[in-house]
Amino acid sequence: MTLSEAYGRILREDITAAADVPFSDNSAMDGYAVRAEDSGPRRVIGEVRAGSVATMRVEAGTAMRIMTGALVPDGADAVAQIEITDRGVDIVQLNEPLKRGANIRRQGEDMRAGDVVLTRGTLIGAGELGVLATARRARALVSRRPVVAVLSTGDELVNAGESVDAGRVVNSNVHTLSALVRECGAIPQPQSIVRDTREATIAAIESALECDFVISSGGVSVGAYDFVKDALDGLGGETKFWRVAMKPGKPLFLSRVRDRLFIGLPGNPVSCMVTFTLFVAPALRKAMGASTVMPPIVNMRTLAPLRGSERRNYVRVRVIARDGELVAEPMRTQSSGATTSMSGANGLAVVQQDVREIAAGSLVPVVLIGMVGWDL
Ligand code: AMP
Ligand code: MG
Repeated sequence: MTLSEAYGRILREDITAAADVPFSDNSAMDGYAVRAEDSGPRRVIGEVRAGSVATMRVEAGTAMRIMTGALVPDGADAVAQIEITDRGVDIVQLNEPLKRGANIRRQGEDMRAGDVVLTRGTLIGAGELGVLATARRARALVSRRPVVAVLSTGDELVNAGESVDAGRVVNSNVHTLSALVRECGAIPQPQSIVRDTREATIAAIESALECDFVISSGGVSVGAYDFVKDALDGLGGETKFWRVAMKPGKPLFLSRVRDRLFIGLPGNPVSCMVTFTLFVAPALRKAMGASTVMPPIVNMRTLAPLRGSERRNYVRVRVIARDGELVAEPMRTQSSGATTSMSGANGLAVVQQDVREIAAGSLVPVVLIGMVGWDL
């Protein structure tokens, strides 16, 4: 793919440099190319600009005006930046002595011909695009974006924008999950709401199996109208696991069906996002060939006590940079049903199973799940 198409994707080949970069020694400054051991005034014999090659040598007692990026002319072994000179036109004087090699970028300093400059599995961001272009690549082999079907189960659900009768719930999961899929570099394919019957659930999953991955929300608990596991049984799915000792997210369900991975996420909006982040996102990144798939975990102090339980708790926190370090501030509500507890949350503080409470001021591991903002 072209470089602009490759942005945000995973590289699927090692990239080697086609040539030395810089191609040969060049100037890091605007100034004068000189011989370091000379002293006294130097005669200015010409000028060399970026992109051109000097036709004259810098002999003893001479200098050549040089621009940043221009190749250093033969004979010169240092560049005097303009600020330490008298800016002379015919004769130039330096106000300070220079060391050999001063202000010269060496040939091959950035990359050497044949060096592997990017390895397969790298996520292509701005810096990587710079390396690709510099390595003389206009195209790169990158992974395809997997298509992820996003199912929402629940008789109570209505689409955002529709009228909400008593007892009905707006389908927020389809929006949060689709956005999370996109954040991983995959393509969400939202499906219409799946009603809580075995037949409807089977039909919806069956048609979704055209996609590379299928994820669903709701219907994986132990309620009388939770049909997702039944439906997978009906489709011949092989259950890999059901229920995880974590909070939120206990009902999480994973099955392999017709060569596809099906992940049944809990219906509660927070459980759904947390389990996506910890299980689905790494799986999607792995499928794309990424060499790093898990979010980073950083130890930091918590500004308020954190509650634990008989499961491993993932407490939603706002991570802020304060006085040169990161600190975690628990979100006010921790209900797994409260969408507002995920808005502004950029961390999941981990409280291990059976720990009752972690006191304010203690160091805790926090999974970083978003950008760290300023403490304003
Ligand atoms: P369930 O696991 O299907 O019993 O759902 C658990 C809770 O999550 C219930 O309160 C549901 O109403 C709610 N819920 C399920 N699916 C969604 C959804 N797509 N958007 C918002 N809330 C949902
Ligand atoms: Mg349900």
